[in-house]
Amino acid sequence: MITAKEIRKAFLDFFKEKQHQVVPSAPMVLKGDPTLMFTNAGMNQFKDIILGNVEPKYLRVTDSQKCLRVSGKHNDLEEVGHDTYHHTMFEMLGNWSFGDYFKEEAISWAWEFLHDRLHIPKDRLYATVFEGSKEDKIERDNEAASFWLKFLPESHIINGNKKDNFWEMGETGPCGPCSEIHIDLRSEDERKKMEGALLINKDHPQVVEIWNLVFMQYNRLADASLTSLPHKVIDTGMGFERLCMALQGKQSNYDTDVFQPLLQTIGNLTGIPYGKDEKTDIAMRVIADHIRTIAFAITDGQLPSNAKAGYVIRRILRRAVRYGYTFLNRKSAFMYTLLPTLIESMGEAYPELEKQKDLISKVIKEEEDSFLRTLESGIKLLDKKIEECREKGILSGQDAFTLYDTFGFPLDLTELILREHNLSLDQEGFDREMQQQKARARNAAQVETDDWITISEGESLFVGYDTTYCECQILRYRKVRQKKGEFFQVVLSSTPFYAEMGGQVGDSGYLIDENGKQYEISTTKRENNLPIHFMNEIPVDPTQRFQAQINQVLRRQAEANHTATHILHQVLREVLGTHVEQKGSFVSPEVLRFDFAHYNKLSPEEIRKIEGIVSEKIRQDIAKQEYRNVPIAEAQKMGAMALFGEKYGDEVRVLQYGDSIELCGGTHLPSTGMIGAFRIVSESSIAAGIRRIEAVTGSNAEAYLYNIEDTLTEVKSLFNNNPDIVKSVQKLLKEQENLQKKLDLMIANQISQVKAQLLANNTVVGHLRFLLLEGDFKAEAIKDLAFQLRGEINEPFIFVGASQDEGKCLLTIMLSDTAVELGLNASNLVRLVAHHIKGGGGGQVHFATAGGKNPSGLADAIQQIKEEIASI
Ligand code: ATP
Ligand code: MG
Repeated sequence: MITAKEIRKAFLDFFKEKQHQVVPSAPMVLKGDPTLMFTNAGMNQFKDIILGNVEPKYLRVTDSQKCLRVSGKHNDLEEVGHDTYHHTMFEMLGNWSFGDYFKEEAISWAWEFLHDRLHIPKDRLYATVFEGSKEDKIERDNEAASFWLKFLPESHIINGNKKDNFWEMGETGPCGPCSEIHIDLRSEDERKKMEGALLINKDHPQVVEIWNLVFMQYNRLADASLTSLPHKVIDTGMGFERLCMALQGKQSNYDTDVFQPLLQTIGNLTGIPYGKDEKTDIAMRVIADHIRTIAFAITDGQLPSNAKAGYVIRRILRRAVRYGYTFLNRKSAFMYTLLPTLIESMGEAYPELEKQKDLISKVIKEEEDSFLRTLESGIKLLDKKIEECREKGILSGQDAFTLYDTFGFPLDLTELILREHNLSLDQEGFDREMQQQKARARNAAQVETDDWITISEGESLFVGYDTTYCECQILRYRKVRQKKGEFFQVVLSSTPFYAEMGGQVGDSGYLIDENGKQYEISTTKRENNLPIHFMNEIPVDPTQRFQAQINQVLRRQAEANHTATHILHQVLREVLGTHVEQKGSFVSPEVLRFDFAHYNKLSPEEIRKIEGIVSEKIRQDIAKQEYRNVPIAEAQKMGAMALFGEKYGDEVRVLQYGDSIELCGGTHLPSTGMIGAFRIVSESSIAAGIRRIEAVTGSNAEAYLYNIEDTLTEVKSLFNNNPDIVKSVQKLLKEQENLQKKLDLMIANQISQVKAQLLANNTVVGHLRFLLLEGDFKAEAIKDLAFQLRGEINEPFIFVGASQDEGKCLLTIMLSDTAVELGLNASNLVRLVAHHIKGGGGGQVHFATAGGKNPSGLADAIQQIKEEIASI
């Protein structure tokens, strides 16, 4: 049997023979693209070339790209595990032509590879071609069809619609028809019963798309019209795992050597063999798939978290844990135990897995533990809701949604538990909540971008390593409308503005016209490798020449923080050990944040030591050595620290300050002395095994120290400038503690007096004894009193506490069991009357409270409570 490894190699070798440059996979987690969190197709890393922002280095390229399809345009998450051919993370094999060969070669080579080289029988292969579109005024792709006819009979060439056979990069931009290759893997018997052509694009698990050849020949404008693309592009993507299934004679991706070892380990762990039962099989597939995704995301630097890309990863992990919990009876953390198997099968191709295995394992285990705790509290909440809805027999859509959204309870788990109690759930209500949330997210994120208006052709040149201002022209600009208003994005022919990258925020500054008028540039970001300047207005005459001038003060401060980050990194390795590895970095003019792998909290001594060595290196005023365009192999030889999961070109920039040598594209100080001062302001944990240091430099460090000094001076003056301030504070605390004790005693006495008064009053309303407490008592004291009364009064009663203090008020209701039996509910009652005090609250059947902002409404609230109980 041909192995997965051999298949990957065969592909790359084939295209190498066709003069393609083999390039490495780009990272799966994307850091510099505002429109995309994860690589979801092979073309992502070439977007800047396809858009014409940079010149291609090679006209023909081939690779195997790690892809993740779990969010945005491509989201296969819900399919994964349930079917046998969609994964969250998969490898996409691709070949590209940037303005070189086009349709004919792309089709012939695809055929040559699958049929001639890999011997896939002709009668099992089908190709689709674009049927054309009236709306876009394009005909059927007869060109592609004619090339296919050289290899396939007409009955194996199938027309496809715009949805399947017309590829678009986004709302606007490069697009074109595509041609998919499908394979029919059914048995001879099955195939005799029904023609494969009828099953194309019909979600049949054995008649699947394996390769998509995209022919980019148009450019879509903002008004939806199409123009011809000057440099036509070939972009192909083949699902590696699906190709393995085809070549290894399997019927499912999970039966290939890519997934079998993992499934076997899961089988051994749970004692449930794969292939025994569809339900447990689905769970096992989900887990085998998701462990790969999570492990790779973490090595790529994306930790699970509660926002953005981190949240996507957290949800994937939770999905796996939940399937294990529900269907495989895994009640404690188990995913992390699958890592050795994963490393055994993929560690050779991806050495970062082995290198970071302790970290991955720790992060996964901690996430699992914490989610299992959430699951438990979710189950408790659900139990409570079950009690509440038992009579109705149905759980509200809103409750199901809260469980889903807050506790990560997917609908099927909620349904499963409800079914055990003979209850159902309001599916429509749930869908409604989901729609509303999606609509909210959409509205918040909506941006409309106009087409670029070109003033002048040319490439944008960055000169900001060497100068802070330069003469330039506007190459092009466009208007962007957002909820918050509109602004412009501007590309300059030459720019000193650093565009946000590698954690360093972008420069701000001015564009100055020939008459000296200044136009503000609020920030600079990078999109598909193009520096884009953000401006609120466009100069009246955008065709003139301008001076581009950055804000030098802010830039210098950012540089101080960036250079200090490099020094800190080096010193951390010196002081804590070489396991310290950068996991994230943020550099702005105000602050620097550095995240790194390390297991323990730093002690105050360690922090002092680190600060001390960094400060020493500042005083040594070590000069910057900068090497541009260094071949990457040479940079590694120099001992430069690089990050896993970063995309570097073939040639890199190396920055050295003494022992600190890093690959870096950021801007830096001429020497360390200009950092001026360095102070760590906080050290904390941001995830299992990852610490974060926040620090300040230069004038910000001064301000930080002044602030501490001022606070201390102020505290001293409060104690008559007593030289032993610590002792004075200790004394004060002791006195305060004694006073509190006395006060507690007095309050207890007062409460017992109040209680005696309440018990002496025999007011009755309806069937209940009515006890009313008014005054400025603390919530805790009232609660205490209410519970004491409950223990002491035998007849049915209601206690109402109405307290107020400085414009705020609190309503408390306590009911005796006998009052509850009469049908009263403290929580409902308090909610019913809370509007009088402009507030809200709730609680249990016996005891509930509501806080409000309108004490003058207390009397009305009490009156309404009386009326309510009088009517019982
Ligand atoms: P499908 O319709 O099967 O979801 P697609 O149209 O989304 O496929 P493309 O975007 O054209 O696929 O991606 C190119 C190739 O990548 C496909 O032909 C397929 O072999 C593979 N592929 C796509 N999505 C996945 C996935 N989630 N898991 C594994 N392979 C995939
Ligand atoms: Mg798809």
